[in-house]
Amino acid sequence: MSTIITGVNISNKTDLEQLKNNGFNCVELFTKDSFKFDFNDEILRKIKENGFYSVIHLPHDIDLHKQDDKQLFYFNDYIKLAKTISCDKLVLHADLDITHNNEKSDLNIVKKNLEKIVDILNHQNIKLCLENDEPYTDLEDIQDTTVRLGYDISSYYEKNSIYDKETKQENISRYIDLIRNVDGLYATFDVGHGNILTEDICDFYDKIKDKVLVIHLHDNRGIKDDHLQLGKGSIDFDKFANVCKKNSFNGPFIFENKSYEMIKQSKQYFIQKLEKV
Ligand SMILES: [Zn+2]
Repeated sequence: MSTIITGVNISNKTDLEQLKNNGFNCVELFTKDSFKFDFNDEILRKIKENGFYSVIHLPHDIDLHKQDDKQLFYFNDYIKLAKTISCDKLVLHADLDITHNNEKSDLNIVKKNLEKIVDILNHQNIKLCLENDEPYTDLEDIQDTTVRLGYDISSYYEKNSIYDKETKQENISRYIDLIRNVDGLYATFDVGHGNILTEDICDFYDKIKDKVLVIHLHDNRGIKDDHLQLGKGSIDFDKFANVCKKNSFNGPFIFENKSYEMIKQSKQYFIQKLEKV
């Protein structure tokens, strides 16, 4: 098997040497909002020096439901950052809730926005990888701006009810519709988010597998977005590793857990599953 690309979300404070020593060869740069990344030159230099493969996770405040071309100007900054670290994949959340800001959301606006973004990025040889998410995520409750390692959204779920079956199915079909019908658009498959929407993540993955360029890994019990260590929830990683291997997908696999210790354990767990296949 060729090299498996494994990584984590990072911030300016991340110790890249430590990541490298623990066998990670990829990083995902993540900032929550404000149309900016506050990564300093030193960390960007270290990403290059250490030969890390990189992915950029775009901030959540790009609103695909809004007809506002001003948002698109910000892509110049993301392109500049991507070039600095030789990154050719940008990850963007789909945010496909059915009632967006209390109005029925219009998928045609989302499609048009995606087409415009894909066109801008195409000229720079950068691919947009739309991430499947779970419905109604209220990002106000995500506290940490740069480190997904410290991510805790439990308070959000205490205030909100669990999704009904139709909402879940609608979210999946909207996502697949976009991935299949927007020319030049690719996918980031988030396994944990998928597990909240469907009991069969492998079947979901199968429907878009030719478009998936990045995989996000974490576990849950199919109810809420717990970001548990792999093996601690209900996801069948034997089956999923099998599917990845069958489709020759070798990464990037980005591990999204709440602590570095959990991330290390998750990586070990998943690599073992891959090797067993
Ligand atoms: Zn994710």
